[in-house]
Amino acid sequence: MSVNLLEFDLEGLTAFCEQLGEKRFRAVQLFRWIHQKGAARFDEMSDLAKSLREKLPSVCHVKGLPVLSRQDSGDGTIKWLFDVGGGDAVETVFIPESDRGTLCISSQAGCAVGCRFCSTGHQGFSRNLTTGEILAQLWYAEFFLRKHLKSPERVITNVVMMGMGEPLQNYNALVPALRTMLDDHAYGLSRRRVTVSTSGVVPMIERLARDVPVALAVSLHAPNDTLRDPLVPLNRKYPLGELLDACLYYLPAAPRDFITFEYCMLEGVNDQPEHAAELLRLLKGHRSRGVPCKVNLIPFNPFPDSGLRCSSRSVVQDFAQTLNEGGLVTTVRKTRGDDIDAACGQLAGDVMDRTQLLRRRAGEQPIRFLPTSKDTQA
Ligand code: SAH
Ligand code: SF4
Repeated sequence: MSVNLLEFDLEGLTAFCEQLGEKRFRAVQLFRWIHQKGAARFDEMSDLAKSLREKLPSVCHVKGLPVLSRQDSGDGTIKWLFDVGGGDAVETVFIPESDRGTLCISSQAGCAVGCRFCSTGHQGFSRNLTTGEILAQLWYAEFFLRKHLKSPERVITNVVMMGMGEPLQNYNALVPALRTMLDDHAYGLSRRRVTVSTSGVVPMIERLARDVPVALAVSLHAPNDTLRDPLVPLNRKYPLGELLDACLYYLPAAPRDFITFEYCMLEGVNDQPEHAAELLRLLKGHRSRGVPCKVNLIPFNPFPDSGLRCSSRSVVQDFAQTLNEGGLVTTVRKTRGDDIDAACGQLAGDVMDRTQLLRRRAGEQPIRFLPTSKDTQA
């Protein structure tokens, strides 16, 4: 059976080459061709021995994901919809800024956590992406962008695992993908510029600290368990106290000396002055010394049938001010790519509509999405 080489980090590729009776440096050469030059054909790989170039096509290949669509926003944001088969699609978003280019990558088709305010959560869980499917998003976007922007140099400088899915519920596929992002023979991104965002899978935060400690963002959204339980159902398993302990455990390994806490602003739900005061007490008082952190307030992006609304601009500003004055560095996330629905949490609704559409066009049955934990609790 032919293996897709995008599935491997360098260690995996080395083992694969060894099975073929090839030396370690051949794996490095191959890895560099694929991830530094974007090569997909072995006959382009001019410094590989001819015998190897002839042998490889019978045992392996390099294959990205089919692109279902691309949308370009007026602000330079680009969103791709990739087909991952079986009627599932995932989205990837490129966000250019003056000093960086950030790629937002998906880790799963759907998500099992089922957060109340997230359209991916409402869609339910379909399946984990493989390492190759996670990396294919970066591989495709980087080499597309180099051509599109006529850049001889690397375009993507930052990766955030903030697309569809809970990355720490797909840990085994995530780790080799992260290692490849960091590898100097591949994308060579610094650990500070690769961020894993999680709703709080406590044991996996601890494993990540040991295996591949990149920057960590934790989706908090509430200052106490009573409020967080219904918003982020995983909180029932790993409540706030344990989650903040995991953050303290992570910090010594982390590439930055703080954790980023994300907080989605929901009108009348978690955005009141008393919530800001409680959040301050929680983060500054945990285990009496507090958790070194920054807070990122995310204006809620509404989607159909969410039954929720975004807090007004002045409420968000007041909330940020309370936290800042209390000594927590707090920023409000800018929305990007609004005109193409590329903002946080808008991804899946769109995917669902389009995959349904594609299926209908193909004369197939519409896809059934599993009920989320949220739906069963409601
Ligand atoms: N599953 C991970 C990463 C993907 S979600 C996590 O939850 O952290 C990335 C971020 O988008 C999270 O902080 C999430 O809370 C936020 N988000 C989800 N839906 C949103 C919405 N509708 N509006 C604003 N932010 C949203
Ligand atoms: Fe999953 Fe994150 Fe959405 Fe929650 S916010 S449902 S963890 S993708």
